[in-house]
Amino acid sequence: MIKVSDLKKEFIQGQERTEVLKGVDLTIEEGEFVAIMGPSGSGKSTLLQLLGGLDVPTAGNIVINQQQLAQMKEKERTIFRRKYIGFIFQNYQLLPTLTVEENVAFPLHADGSLTKEKNQMILELLDSVGLKGLGRKRANLLSGGQQQRVAIARALVNNPAVLLADEPTGNLDRNKAEEILVLMSKFNRENKQTTIMVTHDMFAAGFADRIILFKDGVIDQVIARKDNDYAQYVANFMA
Ligand code: ADP
Ligand code: MG
Repeated sequence: MIKVSDLKKEFIQGQERTEVLKGVDLTIEEGEFVAIMGPSGSGKSTLLQLLGGLDVPTAGNIVINQQQLAQMKEKERTIFRRKYIGFIFQNYQLLPTLTVEENVAFPLHADGSLTKEKNQMILELLDSVGLKGLGRKRANLLSGGQQQRVAIARALVNNPAVLLADEPTGNLDRNKAEEILVLMSKFNRENKQTTIMVTHDMFAAGFADRIILFKDGVIDQVIARKDNDYAQYVANFMA
């Protein structure tokens, strides 16, 4: 489903060049749930942005669903993103003054006006993320956990092949985090959505099939859930 090869990203600010991704190779199977962990500043969010077509690499390849993402022109990339990618941003990034329904519907407007079927689908989606009856409420009046559910519904509204989530439980307490992770696992299994989640939290990473340990812009280790000592590996790495 996803194949990344020798992916590099450098940012240039004035005279200064920072190489953030230094040659990332990664293959992810269809329907897999993968967690990416690693120190702050190691390039996790940058990698996610490139996978989501929100930014372009300096070098290397990204193939998603047999399509070469890295070489696409901006317009093509936007179309690709709308069709295949759902993105859950850090800190929800909802439009605060819009209602819950309007936030979830937002990605659909690119394809023209909302039909009756689309509205029905939004209601079902809100129900499935546990927000039944809250559709008309303004987004900024919801709790953090509820806002994250809106963000999930918005990311899923185009039924994307790939769901990318940047620290989706970072601002939630353990119980709320667990509810969100259970929800993400459920969509991953039922819709066969390939899911990539950046997280700091070992508890969250425990929901993934594989954990990718990221360090200084490269992959340091990959651990499968079935490996012995899986928790110990990660604990040592994050220490
Ligand atoms: P992580 O998500 O692992 O904490 P990031 O991918 O956000 O790391 O950032 C990695 C490095 O890249 C940081 O040093 C950050 O300052 C730098 N960086 C990220 N985005 C930009 C940008 N748009 N311009 C310049 N530097 C950036
Ligand atoms: Mg980050």
